[in-house]
Amino acid sequence: MRTLHTVNFSNKKVLIRVDFNVPLDENKRVTDHTRIKAAKPTIDKVLADGGSCVLMTHLGRPKGVDDNLSLRHIVSEIQTVLGVDILFSKHTIGPEAEAQAQALQPGQIMLLENLRFYEEETKGDEQFANALSTLADCYINDAFGTAHRAHASTTIVAQFFPKAKYFGYLLAQEIDAIDRVMSTGEKPVLAVLGGAKVSSKITIIENILDKVDHLIIGGGMSFTFAKAMGGQIGNSICEDDKQELALSILSSAKEKGVQIHLPTDVVAGDQFSNEANQQIFPIDQIPDGWEGMDAGPESVAAFREVVLQSKTILWNGPLGVFEFSHFSQGTIALGEAISASTKNGAFSLVGGGDSVAAVKQFNMENEVSYVSTGGGAMLESLEGKTLPGIAAIMA
Ligand code: AMP
Repeated sequence: MRTLHTVNFSNKKVLIRVDFNVPLDENKRVTDHTRIKAAKPTIDKVLADGGSCVLMTHLGRPKGVDDNLSLRHIVSEIQTVLGVDILFSKHTIGPEAEAQAQALQPGQIMLLENLRFYEEETKGDEQFANALSTLADCYINDAFGTAHRAHASTTIVAQFFPKAKYFGYLLAQEIDAIDRVMSTGEKPVLAVLGGAKVSSKITIIENILDKVDHLIIGGGMSFTFAKAMGGQIGNSICEDDKQELALSILSSAKEKGVQIHLPTDVVAGDQFSNEANQQIFPIDQIPDGWEGMDAGPESVAAFREVVLQSKTILWNGPLGVFEFSHFSQGTIALGEAISASTKNGAFSLVGGGDSVAAVKQFNMENEVSYVSTGGGAMLESLEGKTLPGIAAIMA
């Protein structure tokens, strides 16, 4: 991989695509600094070598220039997190940005205005990418969160640096974490897939059946399987048109020697609310008027055993409606089991949307081996796709 370890950026100007698409509150304060912190090792490396950085990112989804989404609002917070001064460029491309980049001294950082003020960015426009490329001598992509997009700054720009394009440390770490689950990790390999719908996870399930020894299917998805196998699932969520698919997944897993683990019992509620009355039922005997909203104690204990035996673990999707505290126990217990297995030496990757939200909510971020910074990018990687941002560096 074209990583940074072997490169010296002394006296080089380096164009770095970072992902500072951070959540803001109504006062435009950053509510989660994870993505800014995640870019720090790469930026530090360039500065320590005696190079300078031209940082570029998008923020939100502006339609043209929109001061509400100007990066100027978060410059001081970025400075605080990175611990260095930032020179802000009001322009993303053009003569002023070029002059400012030209004047940049070793050890300095310049931040370009929001890339998405130009529609050329998301269109992957070559001229726009070329204009960005004139600002520096080298290119580093460290924005995993947008690596699944063939945008100007994430993909197209790389072609203007045929001999000087690199994966940043964060991107390299993300690629390595996915590789461990998909190919290089120690066996037994376990994937835990939860969340609401089979339909949104089907490509992942199909791809992952060739890579894993165990697959836990939890959350709302499990009711489609339970019903397809003839169970009574009461009012639980179910995709009726995916029942055939569920059965074919089960038989294909059998052929491939993958052990599938489904919940055997559930915590059900008599309405979709945190305050619902609760009762535990076998997953295939849920009466009408009740809906399964969390994994039951027997399922949690069985899942824990599988997790503790596994040496490589992927977790994507909660085991229940974890946003409701009264139905979050299964998801918390799974997180605890993964944490215990990690302490025993397993490698654990948490990736994709809601499971990342869950580990953050339950303060388990430091208990697992790696928490991915990219939602869509992680999901597409697990589906087996080569991300355009990664392919562009390899080309
Ligand atoms: P996903 O984005 O596909 O990972 O789905 C995450 C969502 O699935 C979360 O918002 C959960 O509340 C929801 N979910 C998990 N289990 C259930 C369930 N048994 N019934 C309804 N929704 C669920």
